[in-house]
Amino acid sequence: MSNYKTETKCIQSGYEPGNGEARVLPIYQSTTFRYTSSEQMGRLFDLEESGYFYTRLQNPTNDAVAAKICDLEGGVAAMLTSSGQAANFYAIMNIVEAGDHIVCASALYGGTYNLYAHTIKKMGVEATFVDPECTQEELDAAFQENTKAVFGETIANPALVVLDLEKFANAAHAHGVPFIVDNTFATPINCRPFEWGADIVTHSTTKYMDGHAACVGGAIVDSGNFDWEVHKEKFPGLTTPDETYHGIVYTEKFGKGAYITKATAQLMRDLGSIQSPQNAFLLNIGLETLHLRVPRHCENAVKVAEYLKNHEKVAWVRCPSLPGDKYYDLAQKYMPNGTCGVITFGLKGGRDAAVEMMDRLKMVAIVTHVADARSCVLHPASHTHRQMNDKELVEAGVQPDLIRFSVGIENIEDIIADVEQALR
Ligand SMILES: *Cc1c(COP(=O)(O)O)cnc(C)c1O
Repeated sequence: MSNYKTETKCIQSGYEPGNGEARVLPIYQSTTFRYTSSEQMGRLFDLEESGYFYTRLQNPTNDAVAAKICDLEGGVAAMLTSSGQAANFYAIMNIVEAGDHIVCASALYGGTYNLYAHTIKKMGVEATFVDPECTQEELDAAFQENTKAVFGETIANPALVVLDLEKFANAAHAHGVPFIVDNTFATPINCRPFEWGADIVTHSTTKYMDGHAACVGGAIVDSGNFDWEVHKEKFPGLTTPDETYHGIVYTEKFGKGAYITKATAQLMRDLGSIQSPQNAFLLNIGLETLHLRVPRHCENAVKVAEYLKNHEKVAWVRCPSLPGDKYYDLAQKYMPNGTCGVITFGLKGGRDAAVEMMDRLKMVAIVTHVADARSCVLHPASHTHRQMNDKELVEAGVQPDLIRFSVGIENIEDIIADVEQALR
């Protein structure tokens, strides 16, 4: 980890050119790498030496960008994935086997919920979902003999629940398992979950990190703090010989790099969800301005939330940075400088008024995305959750009238003027 401040890390971390080399991180647009000795290539395949041989496993552009994200989060090792979904899949699959179990906070991104509730279940891994506001006792009760990890989102998409990171970290550690946090919405600008006891952080870099809605991508970062050896019997994949690499033991050979090395050497090798170097290059350009964009997103979001709160046609507004919000205190504790640019609200006219208002927006666009420079809206009841009736929507924690508003970094007066004319 470098000693630079966050703003400097956004720009300088990850890539340091040598004399006469490209100042800007080059795109290593190459599937493969040349060696003059066949023996050296053999050593790379045995993980005896580190180096590049095939982009599915490692690529210098991707590694530089992963190193920057690692530095921003304060971790020891990181990797990029093709999407946030791949990151959350690998983060769990790297430490579970059929017959294992995980504990998840129930307020999750829909894709992640499907992944953990249904897809990994078909692979023999069960998840128990707990209310993020459960008591310590209720949380403890969710653990089983075969529990291998605890998972949650810093700020849940789209429920905007702020997770009590310390409560979940303590419970995970009391049961000898790591705490994995999806830090997509907060970004390391507003929250670094490792400082609150998280062991592994994941990202959908598709959102604020890229920031321009140009590339789908993901990342996994390891804090290096979880001691797999102390809980050897729970994590045989990391602490016993890997026969596919001549019997190396990841924790013995790679120490604090064990988790990311295993995820690269086994999961990337076998499942192949790599990020393209071209996308990593664009992600890196996004990261260079992350520290400027995130505070502006947050500032604009609070102003839109305040405007909506005072509007006669608005029934309710959710923004964890707004005093009076249910999660205001937790947000102040974990993210005193701001939460994210996404807010949600409902209109007194309900579902029909929501649809009409959205159709009347001129600049703010209706898109299936959040967390990029452009303001956008989505009505889950008509879009992502449209197969559900109103009763099912409420059970899933999505009110039928809920509008998700991802506030961009346009001039705030223009954003509010558009909302104002649409509401009128
Ligand atoms: C979007 C999102 C994901 C999924 O990421 P993709 O890059 O779309 O695969 C995961 N978690 C959160 C919190 C997200 O917002």
